[in-house]
Amino acid sequence: MNGIEAHTVYIGLGSNLDQPLVQVQHALHALSGLKDSELVAHSRLYASRPQGPQDQPDYVNAVACLRTQLTSQALLNALQSLEQAQGKVKQRHWGERVIDLDVLLFDDQVMDSDSLTLPHPCIAQRDFVLVPLLELAPELRCPRTGQAYHEALARLPEHFLDPCSPPRSVDPSSGAVS
Ligand code: AMP
Repeated sequence: MNGIEAHTVYIGLGSNLDQPLVQVQHALHALSGLKDSELVAHSRLYASRPQGPQDQPDYVNAVACLRTQLTSQALLNALQSLEQAQGKVKQRHWGERVIDLDVLLFDDQVMDSDSLTLPHPCIAQRDFVLVPLLELAPELRCPRTGQAYHEALARLPEHFLDPCSPPRSVDPSSGAVS
């Protein structure tokens, strides 16, 4: 990246179709090649049961941290292009998907436009987002409310992460999972 100001962003990844582990690996690799951006780190990969309709496969989730010179809208557009390239087809609300890429946080921006809500409105209700997010940045707070995300996690009434499935690590350049 050149000297233009860069933003710190966190991207949520999820998949529960067509070999979810491979889909998330693939998306991490794609994020590592995103224009005007640098993949700084990513969490381990977590297994979770579905939120919403229960007649769908379990998910693999992760969070990536990027430094990017894109605007928040340009980043959303780029993520949607990656989703399309990976074969995402919108089915039902909270339904199965090959890949889902959400902008969780974009610096401390708070925004409510037609296409983008920042921070992502569902972070604080989902352990499958909070746990990988806090793995990368334990002290993060919601820029809208000021609440520490670790407090949100401690107060969650419902849990989706599969405690029987240990988190996996992936090298996005080689795709190797360990
Ligand atoms: P979904 O496919 O369920 O992830 O929903 C995608 C839709 O959510 C798109 O129309 C986006 O414009 C909208 N959206 C609003 N805020 C966000 C965000 N922070 N990250 C990703 N998509 C968002």
